[in-house]
Amino acid sequence: MKNSPKKSADQHNDLDGIGTPIVRTKLSRLGITRAQDLLLFFPLRYEDETRIFRIAEAPERDLVQIEVTVAQAKVEFRPRRQLVVTVEDDTGSVILRFLHFYPNQQRMLEVGARIRVVGELRMGRHRLREMVHPRVKKINENNPLPSTLTPVYPTTKGLSQPSIRKAVAQAFTIADQSDTLLPSCLTDLGLPSFAETVSMLHRPSSDVDPKVLKDSRGIFWGRISFDELLAQQLIMRKNYDKREQYTAPLMKPNTIEMKTFLDQLNFQLTNAQNRVLAEIQTDMAGRVPMRRLLQGDVGSGKTVIAALAALQAIGSGYQAALMVPTEILSAQHFKKIEEWLTVLGITVERLTGSLTQKERALVSEKIASGTAQLIVGTHALFQDDVIFNNLGLVIIDEQHRFGVKQRLALIGKGANRLNQTHQLMMSATPIPRSLAMSFFGDLDVSALDELPPGRVPITTKLVSNTRREEVFQRVQETCHMGQQVYWVCPLIEESEVLQLETAIQSHEIIQVRFPKLRVGIVHGRMKSKDKTAVMEQFTNGGVDLLVATTVIEVGVDVPNATVMVIENAERMGLSQLHQLRGRIGRGACASTCILLYGQKLTDIARARLKIIYENIDGFEVAQADLQLRGPGEILGARQSGMPMLRYADIERDTLFLEAARRFAPEFLAHHPKLAERHIDRWYGSREKYSEV
Ligand code: ADP
Ligand code: MG
Repeated sequence: MKNSPKKSADQHNDLDGIGTPIVRTKLSRLGITRAQDLLLFFPLRYEDETRIFRIAEAPERDLVQIEVTVAQAKVEFRPRRQLVVTVEDDTGSVILRFLHFYPNQQRMLEVGARIRVVGELRMGRHRLREMVHPRVKKINENNPLPSTLTPVYPTTKGLSQPSIRKAVAQAFTIADQSDTLLPSCLTDLGLPSFAETVSMLHRPSSDVDPKVLKDSRGIFWGRISFDELLAQQLIMRKNYDKREQYTAPLMKPNTIEMKTFLDQLNFQLTNAQNRVLAEIQTDMAGRVPMRRLLQGDVGSGKTVIAALAALQAIGSGYQAALMVPTEILSAQHFKKIEEWLTVLGITVERLTGSLTQKERALVSEKIASGTAQLIVGTHALFQDDVIFNNLGLVIIDEQHRFGVKQRLALIGKGANRLNQTHQLMMSATPIPRSLAMSFFGDLDVSALDELPPGRVPITTKLVSNTRREEVFQRVQETCHMGQQVYWVCPLIEESEVLQLETAIQSHEIIQVRFPKLRVGIVHGRMKSKDKTAVMEQFTNGGVDLLVATTVIEVGVDVPNATVMVIENAERMGLSQLHQLRGRIGRGACASTCILLYGQKLTDIARARLKIIYENIDGFEVAQADLQLRGPGEILGARQSGMPMLRYADIERDTLFLEAARRFAPEFLAHHPKLAERHIDRWYGSREKYSEV
């Protein structure tokens, strides 16, 4: 990222009076553009230079400071060239060892020199205590002992600790340190004031036990975590409330149409499906735009809910759009939903990037005229040239695959700015409670917490690559029973081409190995038409074994497939494995997922595979994934909507998170100015966060 100093200075006068222009540029690289930001830029750790230890009393293996006189200094060559300095005070002596040293260091360490040394004491050779590469300062009137602990900040190339410390000290004289929290709130939570907190964390007095500062559960860090979580909740809450200003189309459910729809299904909705459907229907019948996240584990039956929501919009005279992340999924949803909805005389169209110009023009026309009532599509849906006649409902399947901007682009196609569309987002990556509360706080959440009846649980097996032959046997038996198999090739992040090669290779090997089986292949580089054709064959039972890359990861629904083999499973993320595994276990027969792994498993890889092996519940997997990888990875594209947390940890600070969530609406309602100041303090200099 290029960051010209002039530009950043123009945009943010707020660092004026702090550091040199170069320092300001470097600071901006760390995201610091205002004095206020420096106050919230906290040290990683502290060093205690306020105390002088006497050599005899200094503890080993801790960072200590001693004040000593140089008794001897010499360059030794054994085992390698090094400067060895003996220093002493009244109580004993210590050896300082420097493996790299400069002439001026050598001069400073002349015999008789009085120096202050900071380092870690260890027992060296011949039972003499020594310090390797300590920091050394000459004692003079320019460097009296500091009265506060020395903070050590995270930094960037070319920005020294002293420069940051100086900038922070300057910020203290400029930046507002008054509190944004009410005294009553602080008392309730047992937290210190903002001023005390920043002062404590940046320049803790020497009588504070450094352990208190290190302890992320202590009150000072606690105050910071709460502050940050509160700022996040306030933003979320504001977004949530902003909806009230908009009017969405009223859509009443039509019971007759619904009955016709449900009667043709060869199953009954589960209780959970009925419950979330009612929640969605209530939202859509209201005047406030729906912003609902429907989360339900893979196979919990979200598609039929999407179709029913679309039915309600269309029945009320509006168009509905269903956006999905892959071509394969768009084909599958289109086929299924069209079948369900044509019974009601509803026109469903499909819009994807792979249509010919002519086809695309035709579909676009139907969308613009309103002939197309439900449009199922991929990213093609939100391109500029797509104009809807009367879009009232946007459904986004596998929402975690889309970014905020993409979501907004599609929503922007609603009738007009005030008359906002309803939105239903669906995700099979279950969101742990803490994540749902923090990063999804601006949405209403419905949960499908029940799988359709009659499903036999999936058995997961971990099998070493060396036992491939047994796996081949198993595959053959399965196909002979008339069931189908997925053979998933490893995700090779470095190279899509490489992934393709392995898929093609595996396909050949399997074909040769099982000449009687009908073996198909599907991968990302195939023409969309060919992909769809192969998937259709697999769905209709015309292919026994499907070799696939991770293109089948989301949404694919073939109930007769009962075995999935995943090659090099250790290379894949947990959520991805869970999604893949969710492609089987969709019918009434027992299913098995075989995770093949290479010889050398790292500890982390082993831990990850163990989680998948032990948990069939997506919620547990997601929780474990959150602990293993942190929220950033799991949130994926949504990251661009809301900045990550810097200090708070939603797992560690759950209690603060809950408190912030309770507190935010009240705070916004009764003290809006203070709330704005609070948001500004934390997020004022960041890129504008997402809106609805
Ligand atoms: P997902 O939530 O992963 O998107 P799908 O919507 O693809 O799940 O549904 C998985 C399978 O379960 C589909 O074949 C679907 O037709 C079927 N299904 C959905 N609801 C029910 C139900 N209530 N009873 C039986 N089968 C159902
Ligand atoms: Mg789905």
